[in-house]
Order: sequence, then structure tokens, then C-alpha cells
Amino acid sequence: KIRVRYAPSPTGHLHIGNARTALFNYLFARHNKGTFVLRIEDTDQKRNIAGGSKSQMDNLHWLGIDWDEGPDQGGDYGPYRQSERKDIYQKYIQQLLDEGKAYYSYKTEEELEEQREEQRMMGIAPHYTYEYEGLTAAEIAEKQAQAQAAGLKPVVRIHIPEMETYAWEDIVKGHLSFESDTIGGDFVIQKRDGMPTYNFAVVVDDHLMAITHVLRGDDHVSNTPKQLAVYEALGWEPPKFGHMTLIINAETGKKLSKREQDESILQFIEQYRAMGYLPEAMFNFITLLGWSPVGESEIYSQRDLIKQFDPERLSKSPAAFDRKKLEWINNQYIKQADRDTLLDLALGNLQEAGLIETSPSPEKMEWVRQLVNIYAVQMSYTKQIVDLAQIFFAAPKALSAEEMDEIRQDEARPVIEEFKQQIDLLPRFTSAQIMNAVQATRKVTGIKGRRLFMPIRIATTRSMVGPGIGEAMELLGKDRVHEHLDLTLQ
Ligand code: GLU
Repeated sequence: KIRVRYAPSPTGHLHIGNARTALFNYLFARHNKGTFVLRIEDTDQKRNIAGGSKSQMDNLHWLGIDWDEGPDQGGDYGPYRQSERKDIYQKYIQQLLDEGKAYYSYKTEEELEEQREEQRMMGIAPHYTYEYEGLTAAEIAEKQAQAQAAGLKPVVRIHIPEMETYAWEDIVKGHLSFESDTIGGDFVIQKRDGMPTYNFAVVVDDHLMAITHVLRGDDHVSNTPKQLAVYEALGWEPPKFGHMTLIINAETGKKLSKREQDESILQFIEQYRAMGYLPEAMFNFITLLGWSPVGESEIYSQRDLIKQFDPERLSKSPAAFDRKKLEWINNQYIKQADRDTLLDLALGNLQEAGLIETSPSPEKMEWVRQLVNIYAVQMSYTKQIVDLAQIFFAAPKALSAEEMDEIRQDEARPVIEEFKQQIDLLPRFTSAQIMNAVQATRKVTGIKGRRLFMPIRIATTRSMVGPGIGEAMELLGKDRVHEHLDLTLQ
């Protein structure tokens, strides 16, 4: 039975790259009716941020990802937070110490840095060299006792055998192999503070949690040989590994990285939430980052994706993050979205921009609802309404040169003047009535088509593009429309 996991470190909020890892593991589990486990890897106390794991979980839920076992709901393989599993790691560290497969190392950080510096100067890759080389067991014990007496705290290192090859068939990358002398020597499995290192804890957890497949980002490829060494020392069978290619910015070709912020791409899920992206659209878009379904479509529901997901179709080349494509996909979802959902999001965006009060009256809410409706087809994300609907909130902007040209042409003025009179004859100022006034203007002036509509559009909404003019004018109200017409005729 397939068991996979997503194992975030709560050192930050949910990043696009991590969301993708979570999502592929989730799809793989659901496709195979397997189990999806959430494990919090919080052993690096210094780097954890307050609320980090809660934020990760909230954002996963928002995306529509749920898990079968995890810190919030438990399961048969818990606890699911590494900080609560110290005794478990201790047991296996002790086992390796007892079997002579691991040892206490008292080299200080300064000594290690000095050694690395020397190695760099000699032109060799910095690595740890065995500090008890050539010593007898008694001499080693003596040296360790002295260090201990001097108050030094040890780390525990694992013995890495020489001339060993660590190889695996990677689900994404195919056959990969590393020689033992390229992994940096005997590495630390327990830190001075008693916490296990990532490469040790991850092996203990994946084994004890019966994980069958490890799908993760390819920044972990170089960790895998180290983890294989731990599996070997503990006598355990490793799971299958698949390392997903990195994500690059389609515009710059640069790698998306958590540490280096790329100005042109928002990297955290909650930033997209705040802009009014829909979770279904994000789920759809992220799945297409480095995975391709059979077929040409770009729009897939979560159900389609679960049905189709096959890790064999994970791409070997970097996934390009194309902001335009994300906007296009989100717009597709917005057009189909439930209107109350859109209203909620857009209202929040308008309130944040200070354009709508905190508790609008029922009439005002109805007005906002219609505003959102008329802009729904245009919005790539709901926050755009703040700019798109500017005419409803701010004093009319000056016309651009292009707009001026439209207004200055011979027939424009008579059209605008006639339309101004026609709206005064309307019994009610509704979209349908306003369109009647447009038709009456056509009859009186004999001008039709674009030459009729464009001057009216520009004069009333002060823009060449936008929603239907009848609807826009209804929402503007008769007074504002008059004001705009007068301003244009000045
Ligand atoms: N905690 C690790 C990370 O956030 C997980 C790596 C893994 O999946 O093994 O990168």
C-alpha cells in the first residue's frame, strides 16, 4: 500500500515549490488510494518561525489538500512532529554508537572551519577527516574523556565506508549514483544540542512511518546518498525516491528560490490568496508545473487530476513558472466562480484599498455585487477590481491622447450632446433604459456602430475599454454620468 508524505520545516510560509511537492504527493496518494502523511520537521529550532506549522497547514487546506495522518489529527505512526520524537531518534543513535557505526566527535566549529580552509587552499573539496585516525580504542576513549573533562559538547557522526557507491533509480531522473568519497565524509547525525540532523531524522521517520515513496524537490538530490548511508547502517530498506526538477521564472529563466526573492513572481501561497486567486485555479496551475496530463487542455479539476496523476509524467526539465498563464487560468475559474465567492474576495480587496466602508449598507452591498458581476470576465484576480473600477471611486481621470482623438472627431460631439438629452427623458436610469437612450441617439443623429458607441463610452466611463456601457452607467448613477458628459463637452 502506497504511503507518501509532505514534510515541511516550519521555517516559513508555504512556498510555491513546497506547495507543488505537497500537491504531487497528495495526488499520488489519492490516485493510488494510498495514505498521505503530513510531518512537521521542526528540529532546527533556531530557524522555525512562530506560527510556521499552522500557516503551512492553513495554506494546504486552502489549496484543497487534506491528509490522512498528521500532527493535528494523529494516526498510527505518530507523533508527527519531529520535536516530539526525540526519544525515538535517541534510541537509534544509541544503537549505531553501540554497534560502532557512529561515534562522538569533539572537533570544535573553529577546528572544523580551519580544516575546511586548508582543504580549500589545497584545492580539494572541503570535507571532514576522521579525527581518531590510527588511534587504538583505548587512545580514543582517553582523547574523548579529556575533551569531555574540558567541557566540550560532542556531536555524533556516522562512519561512511570508503569505496561505496550509493545508487538509486530515481522516479524522475532515472539512474543516479554517488561515490561515498563525494558526500563530505562522516557526517553529523546528532547535533551538540542533542537534536538529530535532518538527514538522520528523515530516515528514521520515513522508515517508521512506512513511507513507500519519497517525492521531493531536486534540491534534496545530494542528501539522498547520505540518507542511503543511514538506511544501510540501520539495516533498513530505503523507499523509492523521485526528485522533481526546479521551478524557474519563465520571464527571466532564473530559479525560483525561497531565499532570494524574485520581484516579478510572488512566491508564497498566501500572497496569491490576498490577491484574490482561487484555490482551484492555483491547484490546477501548480499541478502543471513540471507535470503534464495526457491531452491538450489547461483546465483540470482536482478530480480529473487525481484520476490522471502518474509520476512517470513528471518532467525531467525545469518547470517554467509563467505568470501570464496563471492569470489566464485564474480568469477562467473566476468566470465560472460562484458569485458570492467573488463578491467576498473583491469586497475584501476594495475595503483593503479603502474604497468601501467596513460595514456597508444592504444597498451598498447590492451595488458592490453588481460591480463585481460586471467586471468578473475581465479580472485575472479579484484585486484587479481596485484598478479596473477606478472610475466608480475616484474623480474622472484626464483622457489619453488616443481617447481625445476619438472625442474630437466630427461626429462625436453631436452624439454626446444628443445622448445627454436622451438620458434626461428616461423614466428610470437602468441599464436597459440607458441602452434605449443610445438607440434613440442613433435615430436622431444617424450615426451608428463604433462611431456611436465609442464617444458615448469614453464620455461616460472615461475609457475605451470596460464592461457594458449600460451596466456601467447604471452603477455610476445619473448624476455622475451627467458630470462626466459635461466634463467631456467642455
Ligand atoms: N523538511 C524538508 C524540507 O522542508 C523535507 C525534505 C524531504 O522531503 O525529505 O525541505
